[in-house]
Amino acid sequence: MIYMLEDEEGIRNFVLYALRSSGMEAEGFETPSALRAAMAERLPELLLLDRMLPEEDGLSVLKKLRSDPGTRKLPVIMLTAKDSELDKVEGLDGGADDYIAKPFGTLELLSRIKALLRRTADDNAGADRLMLGGLCICPSKHEVTADGSRVALTLKEYDMLLFLVRHRGEVFSRESLLREIWGYDFSGESRTVDVHIRTLRSKLGSCGELIQTIRGVGYKAGEEPLD
Ligand code: CA
Repeated sequence: MIYMLEDEEGIRNFVLYALRSSGMEAEGFETPSALRAAMAERLPELLLLDRMLPEEDGLSVLKKLRSDPGTRKLPVIMLTAKDSELDKVEGLDGGADDYIAKPFGTLELLSRIKALLRRTADDNAGADRLMLGGLCICPSKHEVTADGSRVALTLKEYDMLLFLVRHRGEVFSRESLLREIWGYDFSGESRTVDVHIRTLRSKLGSCGELIQTIRGVGYKAGEEPLD
């Protein structure tokens, strides 16, 4: 998935069309706040970032991404009408991986994207990260961080966390969690779920609150406080 933050609709649609035509998944956003909302749900493999934007400068968006552990290594190509050497240096110093001056051809853009994805392929193995509050799960690396710190989980704790976060907002009964995570249907064992939820919560520290108990029903993952 490639995200593009670009306020000019014409350029955005043109680039998204080119990316999708070459078989890539791509989503476009007009404002930094729209991009952040999308990033909270799903991180892209690469971001195309315009420099001149409403709300804030692309460089400031980039600096915030670089100071967040979840997006520190996100591959970023800056796109800009400013092609002076100083602007280019500012972009690269600000943490951009590459820089393309407008106007650019789609063939050049596509080849730069592919080159950057190849360069970052190792880091990018974890680009399928799921975020919820201070929690970050990286399924391809089997890694979980809570407020930036690595958390060591057992296989079942990990599977349950991943399942709940993937289905955030949905409530699951103990029985359905047993079926999903342990692969069997035996309601007598439903205490197993409670035990795993308890250890999972304590390992996640303050992020443990993201695993919520729905009284009389079961559990769910969510950020909004319960009544
Ligand atoms: Ca712009």
